[in-house]
Amino acid sequence: MWIGIDDTDSSQGMCTTFLVPEIISSLNYDLIGYPRLVRLNPNIPWKTRGNAAIAFKIGEGKGKSKKIGEFRGRDILSFQYGEEIPTTDILDKIKKIVERYAILDDKKTAPGIVISKKKISESIYWKAVRSVVSLDFVMPYLKGLDFYGYKSKRGLIGAAAAIAWKPRIKTYELIAYLPEEKWLQERYVDVNSVIEMDSTVKTTFENYDYRNRHVAIKPETKTPVLFGIRGTDPDDLERARNIVKSDPYLGYIIFETNQGTDDHLVRKNISEIKPYDSVIVKGTVKTRPKTIIGGHLIFKIFDETGSIECAAYEKTKEFREIIKKLMPGDAVIVYGSIKKYPNTINIEKIKIESLADIYKKEIPRCPVCGKKMESAGKGKGYRCRKCGTFKSEPNYVKIERDISPGFYQVPIIARRHLSKPIEFFQVEYIQSSHLHF
Ligand code: ATP
Repeated sequence: MWIGIDDTDSSQGMCTTFLVPEIISSLNYDLIGYPRLVRLNPNIPWKTRGNAAIAFKIGEGKGKSKKIGEFRGRDILSFQYGEEIPTTDILDKIKKIVERYAILDDKKTAPGIVISKKKISESIYWKAVRSVVSLDFVMPYLKGLDFYGYKSKRGLIGAAAAIAWKPRIKTYELIAYLPEEKWLQERYVDVNSVIEMDSTVKTTFENYDYRNRHVAIKPETKTPVLFGIRGTDPDDLERARNIVKSDPYLGYIIFETNQGTDDHLVRKNISEIKPYDSVIVKGTVKTRPKTIIGGHLIFKIFDETGSIECAAYEKTKEFREIIKKLMPGDAVIVYGSIKKYPNTINIEKIKIESLADIYKKEIPRCPVCGKKMESAGKGKGYRCRKCGTFKSEPNYVKIERDISPGFYQVPIIARRHLSKPIEFFQVEYIQSSHLHF
């Protein structure tokens, strides 16, 4: 039986993922497979932070089991498969836990719980990760299921989409949680131990931004999460966890997730781009990038259907040094997302396919005596002072471009959860959807 939950948190605290170990340890049922942390459309304005929803399967565990976490002093086991259990009072039990933790007095928080014995149509996941979905669109898919939506019921959208995700490409995240009394306090994660973990456990990613000295595994906001370690091999995450030194924690659990998959991106022509889209656009640089107030860098690209502005915002730090070197005529593929007004792509990564030949004008030397010529007036060519020779055209000298074709991405400090790191384009990291026993 699948359980999907979303929208229990607010900017004042909580994190929906915390409910997974809390529910598993309270209900007397087994966890089947890994729980899922599913990121949805990163551009929708009503998200709290990273637009995450959760789904997990419970039942009577069968087959092999393995430890995928610890919580309140007990191991969390995951079973290879399971037998179905009756749904009778599960929704009520989950509602009680949601009501205990959800920030229901925040007007934006509208939790949703969905319980389903079957997978929900995968199309809901794709729509929710790539566009804006209405509750009216989702409701027919919930017919006959047990579900409960609080307030505006918006959380039902994410809860259904999380169950609907059918992982083909996936990564993992081990999340460690603080005890409740520490949720709103400063937390401690030792920087050097994170660097050691990053350099030792090679299947982890986005742990530390070396250039910007930013510990990416520790959340910026005050939430139950103490740290989250991302990786492509779930078995390595346990080893990584043991290297990280931090405040003591209540427990941890490993999720499978769609983070680092680029599932949000859709190839589009410029004229097809809509508000809240995330796109891959092939185009040609139209204007030289220029810096605007705030340190943001803006330039335009065009294709056969139109033109659009692209931005490398200040928070993308050294990525702007690359963007600054683009010139009109360069062929690029821009990967990025659009907010409400479809006039700017917020770049996540860029592939420079080819560089335009750029020439600069130079006053020519005299073809007869070799002396440097001088201008004969604007648009009137060049004259040699020594021997009187005339030349109508200047020399055109090809400029050496200080950039190479290839992929470039924003640094870890500005990385989106769903963005596939360019390192993944080179290595095979697709995991089978079964547990690694
Ligand atoms: P956190 O990352 O801290 O868990 P959050 O950023 O996930 O928080 P939520 O509080 O869950 O934010 O708010 C997102 C809300 O948007 C949820 O109610 C969810 O159901 C809804 N939602 C998610 N994706 C879409 C979508 N594509 N279209 C419409 N609504 C969506």
